[in-house]
Amino acid sequence: AAQIELFLADEAAAKRLGEDIALALRPGDLIALNGDLGTGKTTLARALIRAMAGDPVLEVPSPTFTLVQAYDTRIPLYHFDLYRLSDSEELEELGLSEALQFGAALVEWPERAKLSAGVTVHLEHEGDGRRAIISGEVAALARVARSLAI
Ligand code: ADP
Ligand code: MG
Repeated sequence: AAQIELFLADEAAAKRLGEDIALALRPGDLIALNGDLGTGKTTLARALIRAMAGDPVLEVPSPTFTLVQAYDTRIPLYHFDLYRLSDSEELEELGLSEALQFGAALVEWPERAKLSAGVTVHLEHEGDGRRAIISGEVAALARVARSLAI
């Protein structure tokens, strides 16, 4: 399958990637975000959400305990953290399908549930920076690629 690989030299580059993905989002998009601890998932998620909100200092709490945090942005945006998800039934209760009817979802710990993500952003350590491997459905991936400022 198609994928895009980017080297993110520093935190600023990770934020730019989040901001670029925000430009591409459409209702129905599910963006999965994964990678080991410290690879920049929170950094990217915050930048994406702040760009969607048009507010560079917006408070972006971690949805670790609530599992989902909703944002009233350009299109409704739902930030999920599935780390504490107990079963897939619970995911239905969280309203993912409804969320995707009019909004987009950014999902951390996607491996905790059976999800079909349009785009997956995988982050890894590489030297002092990070490598981002973006994969997914060809159409969604092409849309993200067009929004990348590279
Ligand atoms: P995670 O949520 O995956 O555990 P964080 O977003 O909390 O990771 O980031 C961990 C640390 O890595 C932070 O200090 C952040 O500034 C830094 N960081 C994030 N992205 C990059 C990057 N591309 N290059 C270098 N440092 C980064
Ligand atoms: Mg984090």
